[in-house]
Amino acid sequence: SPKVGPTLGAFEQYNRYPDPQQAELRDALSGYTGAPRDCIVAGNGSDELIDLIIRLFVGKGDKIIEPSPTFGMYGFSARLAQAEIIKVSRDTNFDLDIGKIKQAWDDKTKVVFIAHPNNPTGNPATRDQILELLKLDSIIVVDEAYHEYCGQTCIDLIDKYPNLIVLRTFSKWAGLAGLRIGLGVMNPEIAQLMMTIKPPYNMNRAAEEALKASLKDKELLLSRITPVINERERLFDLMTALPGVTPIPSAANFMMLRLPQGKGLDIFHKLASRGILTRCYDYPEMTDCIRVSIGQRWEVDGFANALNEILDRT
Ligand SMILES: *Cc1c(COP(=O)(O)O)cnc(C)c1O
Repeated sequence: SPKVGPTLGAFEQYNRYPDPQQAELRDALSGYTGAPRDCIVAGNGSDELIDLIIRLFVGKGDKIIEPSPTFGMYGFSARLAQAEIIKVSRDTNFDLDIGKIKQAWDDKTKVVFIAHPNNPTGNPATRDQILELLKLDSIIVVDEAYHEYCGQTCIDLIDKYPNLIVLRTFSKWAGLAGLRIGLGVMNPEIAQLMMTIKPPYNMNRAAEEALKASLKDKELLLSRITPVINERERLFDLMTALPGVTPIPSAANFMMLRLPQGKGLDIFHKLASRGILTRCYDYPEMTDCIRVSIGQRWEVDGFANALNEILDRT
């Protein structure tokens, strides 16, 4: 938001510690999520909340489940806790395989992490799948980092499912990745516990001011979502038209593309040499795939044209 810079510049209380109870912050976030303030904990990015969840619920020798491929921080924090990371492969469309997750689950499994939509594949889970997982006797984390690009949420299920934790972030839709603002919405008892174990000053005052300024400018920020969605759908059509390229339908602000077999890395490097930086994946369940961010119209066209030319010559 254009309001953030001037607000941070004019703020005069950087000499004061932030409020460890996050009172104003949680009120502001309550307005944004519609969830009661005592269900909310703010974190230094949602990455910190992932870590706090692990610290609360996962000990040495416990297990977490992550449907693979997915976001790296779940495994990162779980490894530090000396937990066992159970990767359950997604199906060929990268959708959740609920049967396999249930099979992999046992009473050592303390947390199941679902990125919804998933990073890096962009596809959402269905509500039925999440409801099915909530029957498991574990914490179910639904990471809604891309909620604003997708429209779906599970926050309304918090009342009914005390084992549900929903994560959100201001890094993507609000463009505040460098200031580190994430939040968790959960049962008030868990929120209370999390408040007691978090570092007292985990939210710095600059982040707090930026967050409040951004929420005052919510309409402007949200008005920028529709053009991204439009470009996402246009990129999908452009990619579908390219022989050998299979785009994965995305509900986020990026898209995963399958490239012709054996050529992923080569195409990735050729795009990079033209100044187009994507992310290349070459995991067993995800070979010859690149993830591309949704840009502005000229960027989407530039990417599609470059890829088309590279494919012609490869
Ligand atoms: C970007 C991302 C995050 C991290 O968000 P921060 O608030 O910047 O820590 C969490 N989960 C997923 C799925 C992401 O893509």
